[in-house]
Amino acid sequence: MKKNAIYKIVPSCELVIGIAFSALYDLDRFRLVRFESAFVPIAEEMKNGGLSLKDLEGLKPIIREKVEEFVDRLLIEDMLYVDNDLHNPPFKTVSDAWDPPNEIINCIIDVAEKVPDWDELVSQLEELKCEALQIRCYSNRIDLDAAASILRTFHGSSVSHVELILKSSNDIDEGRLRKLFDDFPALVSVMIHSSDRNAQLELTSDDLPIQRVLIWQKKPLLSEKQCGVVNENMMDRPSPKLCGEKKNFQGCLNRKVSIRSDGQMCNCPSLKKNYGTNLSQLADVVRSKSFQEVWHIKNDMLDVCKNCEFRYVCTGCRAYLESPTSLKKPAKCRYDPTSGTWEEALRS
Ligand code: SF4
Ligand code: SF4
Repeated sequence: MKKNAIYKIVPSCELVIGIAFSALYDLDRFRLVRFESAFVPIAEEMKNGGLSLKDLEGLKPIIREKVEEFVDRLLIEDMLYVDNDLHNPPFKTVSDAWDPPNEIINCIIDVAEKVPDWDELVSQLEELKCEALQIRCYSNRIDLDAAASILRTFHGSSVSHVELILKSSNDIDEGRLRKLFDDFPALVSVMIHSSDRNAQLELTSDDLPIQRVLIWQKKPLLSEKQCGVVNENMMDRPSPKLCGEKKNFQGCLNRKVSIRSDGQMCNCPSLKKNYGTNLSQLADVVRSKSFQEVWHIKNDMLDVCKNCEFRYVCTGCRAYLESPTSLKKPAKCRYDPTSGTWEEALRS
């Protein structure tokens, strides 16, 4: 810390307070920095007015040293700026208001043996203004020709973000996968499971602002039961849109619809409740009160999650509980916000 400098937290950083640990979410640069909650009063001071060396006078040397270390860490993380006038009004913070026009934002399609009627699905998802689609294939039912055909069906529709998860087979090679990306701008990721390697390839394109990724994974994807794990690597990156949604709605199921591998319409393939197989009724199903009930179970309402610093970047998965409207923390989360530690078993 420099003499006479007044340190303030940059306006794009939001303070999220937890029990043992808290976090600053940088909503402009999509990252999060955790720190012990003992530093929350210092962070609040820097958020609301500003902090200078003068404010630390009178603190015990050992505490003062720790506060200075904390400030230095935030400076290195680019989360502070120096404003030498305490009376300057703070910059306007980033708005996280959330009210998109889409009735459905994302859709999961699970495929084992049956495939859905893609034409009907496009028509229904178009009506709901669905933007993102994830197709998870547990078998070799979808090869690269079938994947190209599905992507062609969705081309020009409201779906502008497609993730494919396919099972490894002899016809899937890197050259053909790259061609798939070249041919379909909406394709953002392909993950090949049951592969002979674990690898990741970032694909950049001069024409597209988005990051696209190709992943090979040795671990097989056998069924929807593998979904719902909560660990540090699975947290979303904080953004105004994401945090705005998670503050007001369920972190994974809000405005999501899914088709299970048996063809049943549902909120998520891992939830027991289903709404029949007649895809021509998908939009009506989504608009029903019963379907939307789980959309409102936000993480701030959950027993443990409401005190967790990850609550606005975490799915708060509602599957595998006695009821998706239960206020218990996710069954597959092994994080303890009161100690700030992860149980090793499900860490990765
Ligand atoms: S609610 Fe849980 S199981 Fe369902 S899609 Fe979300 S994370 Fe997966
Ligand atoms: S599930 Fe709840 S307790 Fe676990 S990391 Fe997410 S917000 Fe925290």
